Amino acid sequence: MLGKLADWNDTIVALATPQGIGAIGVVRVSGKSAIEIVDRLFPAKDLCACKSHTLHVGLLEADGVAIDQVVVSLFKGPASYTGENVVEISSHGSPYILEKIITDITAAGARLAKPGEFTQRAFLNGKLDLTQAEAVADLIYSNTEISRKHALQNIRGGFSSVLKTLRDQLLSFSALIELELDFSQEDVEFADRSQLNSIINNAEKMTDELLSSFALGNVIKNGVQVAIIGKPNAGKSTLLNTLLNENRAIVSEIAGTTRDTIEEVLNIDGILFRLIDTAGIRQHTTDLIESIGVERSLEKMSQADVVIYLFDVNEINKEELQVVIHEMNEKAIHYLLVGNKIDLSSDKVLAEKFANINVLYISAGNKKNVDIVKQRLVDEVLGGKLQTESSVVSNARHYEALRLVHQSLIDIQKGMEINISGDLLSLDIRRCLHYLGEITGEITNEDQLDYIFSKFCIGK
Ligand code: GDP
Repeated sequence: MLGKLADWNDTIVALATPQGIGAIGVVRVSGKSAIEIVDRLFPAKDLCACKSHTLHVGLLEADGVAIDQVVVSLFKGPASYTGENVVEISSHGSPYILEKIITDITAAGARLAKPGEFTQRAFLNGKLDLTQAEAVADLIYSNTEISRKHALQNIRGGFSSVLKTLRDQLLSFSALIELELDFSQEDVEFADRSQLNSIINNAEKMTDELLSSFALGNVIKNGVQVAIIGKPNAGKSTLLNTLLNENRAIVSEIAGTTRDTIEEVLNIDGILFRLIDTAGIRQHTTDLIESIGVERSLEKMSQADVVIYLFDVNEINKEELQVVIHEMNEKAIHYLLVGNKIDLSSDKVLAEKFANINVLYISAGNKKNVDIVKQRLVDEVLGGKLQTESSVVSNARHYEALRLVHQSLIDIQKGMEINISGDLLSLDIRRCLHYLGEITGEITNEDQLDYIFSKFCIGK
């Protein structure tokens, strides 16, 4: 695999900090000649003679002219992020200075790095497996507590270790099958097939759980789509504004996923909630929400992971509400019923009016019980699932490969039921190990790698 990368021997350079003015900027250099190249611009010390993991302050110079006073961090391969020699130059954060440093370093023999190339080298040098490398990008793009934790756990090998357990199980199966094949000439009755069955059943169960976790993984990575639906004047904008004032989220979109629809984004308890088509909510367009049956409301609802049906408790009766409930149940929509403007009613009246219906009573205008809506949103989405330590699949590539692993396992289970021969089982198990290897990157191709790493930012 490494042989195919023609530019593998190059030394690469890139800005590691964001574009624009900052207190400090960092230029990163990696490759065989990284230390020699920077050493040519750093007369204060002989960097080639310095120890790894050391910092050096001095003037960076090109053609005898001082560029800036910098700090140089030295990491000698393989004990570095990429596994190669790495130098990081921290300079003053002027875009002009940083640009000049990069130009002078390229003039001294390095070339500009491609997006994700540092991490790609780390992967190719065995410092990270592919799931860990992908988690690096996830961590950079993480914008909530939950996505940060998940990505960090995977960088530290959380998901890899689950896959390793799965792989070990499959390898033990494979070993038992090979044993059977070795003895087949001698007509030896094969070792206990129930042991094989239990290994495969375990692996199938484990894979199934991982596949089921993908819905939660999506929530962690992309957030939860929420639609606030209701008649005009129910209080939708008021509720939205209250939520936004308290919970507006800072969002960095993952490259290529910028959405066309206008949406407001909330961060509640570390989870991202994306309010669908907020522009529609803000306009008092009667056609949009005249009744629950209006087409656009339905369209919005079908996109949503959770729908908040908001109504004015003083304007709607139980029968009307039951129609709404019926429609949403019919369409298997995940919803919360939220009754607004309780300040204009009383607990007693409401208890009678909506008896036996599960309604959250709030006053959006007076910010009463809005916290309960938030809590219920979080509960609806997570259903307590995040408390478990179990691994969560959040990457579509992993999900697709796991589906193939799972299908192979089902094929093996079926094969064993009808007692197919060991050599056929052996083929199936190899197929299974192949798909598993694709996830961690043991089995991969250059195009796929280029695709994965092209989504990283430059300098990472
Ligand atoms: P939308 O059409 O569903 O977006 O409704 P709005 O948020 O624009 O609210 C309609 C009207 O109801 C506005 O005059 C709000 O001030 C008022 N309103 C919203 N929430 C409450 C509440 O909890 N109590 C009362 N009394 N009025 C409210």
